[in-house]
Amino acid sequence: MNTRIAVIGAGTAGSGAARRAAELGAKVILIERDAPASGSSGRSAAIYNVQTVDPLHIELRMRARELFFRLERDHGLPLNRIGNVRVGWSDADMERLETVNRTQRELGLGPGDAIILSRQDLQNLVPDLNTSDLAGGLFGPRDGTVNGEVMCQALVNEAIELGAEYKKANVLGHQLRSDGTHLIHTSDGDVVADIVINAAGAWAGIVGELLGHPVPVLPQVHDIVKVSLATPLRYTVPMVNLYMPGSDDEALYFRQFDETTLLAGFHTYRVLEGHPIADPENYRGEVEPSYLAAVEEAINRRFLVPGMTVQAGWTGLYPCTADEEFIIGPEPADNSIITCTGLGGVGVTSGAMAGYTAAEWAVQGRPTTISGATRWLPGRESLKGTIK
Ligand SMILES: Cc1cc2nc3c(=O)[nH]c(=O)nc-3n(C[C@H](O)[C@H](O)[C@H](O)COP(=O)(O)OP(=O)(O)OC[C@H]3O[C@@H](n4cnc5c(N)ncnc54)[C@H](O)[C@@H]3O)c2cc1C
Repeated sequence: MNTRIAVIGAGTAGSGAARRAAELGAKVILIERDAPASGSSGRSAAIYNVQTVDPLHIELRMRARELFFRLERDHGLPLNRIGNVRVGWSDADMERLETVNRTQRELGLGPGDAIILSRQDLQNLVPDLNTSDLAGGLFGPRDGTVNGEVMCQALVNEAIELGAEYKKANVLGHQLRSDGTHLIHTSDGDVVADIVINAAGAWAGIVGELLGHPVPVLPQVHDIVKVSLATPLRYTVPMVNLYMPGSDDEALYFRQFDETTLLAGFHTYRVLEGHPIADPENYRGEVEPSYLAAVEEAINRRFLVPGMTVQAGWTGLYPCTADEEFIIGPEPADNSIITCTGLGGVGVTSGAMAGYTAAEWAVQGRPTTISGATRWLPGRESLKGTIK
């Protein structure tokens, strides 16, 4: 009999997990209480890119991007290749980005796919950017935006074509049966599974409690601001990301949204100190006025276009972790429970492949697409003591 796998949550992680597990021959049921991407995956800034610094994350994002390109080709997934630039602030940052660029090439990225920019190149790319205190950047012209809802739905559709079942139901409880199988109680009846994948994003802590395996995910509210331009620009503003992984502070990002609007906010991998860990069932839905004011100040300093005005966009949850890393793999005390969460502020660009990794743990007993993903196993020392 094929392994019965229940995937909980149809965000990027769960949709990817269901698709990959079905492809690997499992009997899959994907349980989502609302619609695909109704959690964080539908509330993001929608950026996908391969311009990050850690080799394992570069590899994961490259595979995810290949998947997006295939979904675009096969199913018309709309991608908007506005480009993505990770900005370097100093000579040391630029040395780091040069190293990243060498790694990208070693991993198979073409020379036109990730380009080192001098400060002048950066100025030419984004003519209104204040580059006076910047050193340059790393630019991906084929990076851009993907609609979270459409992407998750495309993965769900492929999972269904491969034999998976989609069940709209709320997971309410769980029993481990004497034969080691799982009985999952939902708002629409019980589901029996050999393996459960907890891909409930910021809600993975709650679902983990139900499954008897608490998950140290730390949900934090992040806000998005809309910046109105007085008149359209002569060029498309790529994603400009001023955050350098490892830095202590949040940093500004912004990108074109429509002809006369930019999206902007602050990004970090860190669990923000002084920021509450949110209750995902009842988190702040309004953009804070102080955040709006801070973005207004930052964007006016960084993007020298007169007459910009800011308005609240929306809020959503980053499913963060104490060590700023994903959690993907079997729970140490029961390898028939696979956790897949902790995607923080990068789960749109990474989530589908995080899900693939979880599915491979479930069906094949190890990650095969991204073999280095064993680094993200649950129960690691750096997560201990961080259950909220
Ligand atoms: C403001 C903001 C901007 C962002 N911008 C970007 C960006 O530009 N690029 C990027 O890569 N990432 C971005 N992110 C991060 C990204 O959105 C998340 O990392 C990602 O969506 C997490 O995906 P997930 O599948 O783990 O969780 P989710 O998408 O939250 O999916 C979890 C699913 O589980 C379901 N669920 C929960 N409990 C239950 C239950 N009991 N029963 C059944 N179903 C349940 C939920 O309904 C939900 O659909 C941003 C996030 C925010 C908040």
